Amino acid sequence: MSTPFAIGDELTHVVGDAECPECLEEYPEPCRCGGLIHAATGEEDASRTEWPTTRCDRCGRSEEELD
Ligand SMILES: [Zn+2]
Ligand SMILES: [Zn+2]
Repeated sequence: MSTPFAIGDELTHVVGDAECPECLEEYPEPCRCGGLIHAATGEEDASRTEWPTTRCDRCGRSEEELD
């Protein structure tokens, strides 16, 4: 059984799935906690660069928080 996992409003990611179908290209990435960091399309900033929203399916941290 797969457990759904939400990033923002999208409850479409799958916990522990290294081939998560909803993730952006090159995600999920391994997290140092042993979980997987999923990524969804995020917001554009003032210079129109799109920053993905990331969240680990185990510890709940984003990639930025782990740096
Ligand atoms: Zn995902
Ligand atoms: Zn983690």
